[in-house]
Amino acid sequence: MSYVVQQRKKMILILVLSFFVVGALAIFVVRDTTQFFIEKQAEEVAKIVGTFAKTARSVYSDVAIAKLKSDGYGSHVDSELHEGFIPIPAQFLKALGRATEQNTANLFHYRPVSRWNIEPSQGLSSDFLKWAWPQLEAQDQENPEGPIDWQPIFRIEQVDGMNVFRYLTADSATSASCVACHNHYETTENIKKFREQAGVPLGKSWKQHQLLGALEITIPLNRIEHVATEQLNRAVLWISIIFLGCLALIGGVYLLNARLHRNLENLSWEANHDPMTNLLNRRAFEREANSLWEETINSDKEHSLLFLDLDKFKFVNDTYGHHAGDTVLKAVAEHLSCERREYDLVARLGGDEFAVLLPYCSIDVGMLVAKRILRKIESTRIDWKGEVLTIGVSIGLAKMDKDSLSVQKVIEQADMASYIAKKSLDTKVVAYSENI
Ligand code: GH3
Ligand code: MG
Repeated sequence: MSYVVQQRKKMILILVLSFFVVGALAIFVVRDTTQFFIEKQAEEVAKIVGTFAKTARSVYSDVAIAKLKSDGYGSHVDSELHEGFIPIPAQFLKALGRATEQNTANLFHYRPVSRWNIEPSQGLSSDFLKWAWPQLEAQDQENPEGPIDWQPIFRIEQVDGMNVFRYLTADSATSASCVACHNHYETTENIKKFREQAGVPLGKSWKQHQLLGALEITIPLNRIEHVATEQLNRAVLWISIIFLGCLALIGGVYLLNARLHRNLENLSWEANHDPMTNLLNRRAFEREANSLWEETINSDKEHSLLFLDLDKFKFVNDTYGHHAGDTVLKAVAEHLSCERREYDLVARLGGDEFAVLLPYCSIDVGMLVAKRILRKIESTRIDWKGEVLTIGVSIGLAKMDKDSLSVQKVIEQADMASYIAKKSLDTKVVAYSENI
């Protein structure tokens, strides 16, 4: 696998992993933010409900009770026993809370609660109230000079596996008449008896603006959370579809690109190599040799070029067939490839002709290399259908240096030397010189 392909695969892997990590983080952040907004929204709704309830009570007091008072009647705790009297504002608020609970189909509940309430259901009956009430009390003042800036107390609780927003807002003694009325009740025998039974100290006396009671508002969050979860799931689904689509697109482009790259590589390889031996072809050899020559043309460096021509190769073809001839050519190519150093160039120039360029190698050393190659090739035995084939080769050497006219010229000289070697009876390796 090429380095580029490896890097691309690594990049895609990093991309996919990043998507999952960033996706998980994004879901976490969105979930957290959604929960925050749900809580904020519930707080707003609770504030509205609380304000509305207190306003309703004020209207009841200012409109209904005031009118009755001007007619000579008014409000009374035991209004059913007194003709012309209606319930006091606190009783109205309780009744409003109960009626709302029945009519709002679990949308929200509210009820007046207080440490001082004589109805057990409106005392500090739950953990939430026992936790929140003291926090309201802590905000109360000894001698308030004006309305106290009450801060509501709230939290989300799990009830039957469902999240519920619970909110407690102070319901302070807003008017002097209200304070007088409540202080008066505390002195009545009836209330004293209740206080004693409940273990609450007697003689409680309020000042205006102090904490008289509170409104507990409860908002189940299951509906809005369900909508939020559905919305989030839809968003995750769409983002995943878009991401996978992009990934498929990138993958497709990548595959196309990889195929194109492979095809180009194949084309380039085919253009430069001999398909049978996988050695460089003449054109590529000449080009590579030329660039080496140009690099060193202004130096004293010299290179050796070997030209090899197999002996009586036609005989192998004619006697044993072309396949045998091909096998011989491949065997020679194999030897040359094994013998080459890292920077040597080995090529099949055509037919039974091969060339080896030994960069930065003097002609003397080139001669040694040529002889080694000769020995190797001539010692080769090829088993061909029961027959043993041997290979003969003639090698010509030529020097390539700054005095060379061209690479083609050097190849010609080595070819010429190999021709001399072929004709010679005693030597199979000949170095080119002017007078051969
Ligand atoms: P010499 O000893 O003088 O070199 O003669 P030779 O028989 O080796 O023949 P020569 O070098 O003149 O010609 C090379 C022959 O190689 C000619 C051709 O039939 C054969 N040849 C060329 N290409 C291929 C090939 O790809 N496969 C096979 N099997 N033979 C080939
Ligand atoms: Mg030949």
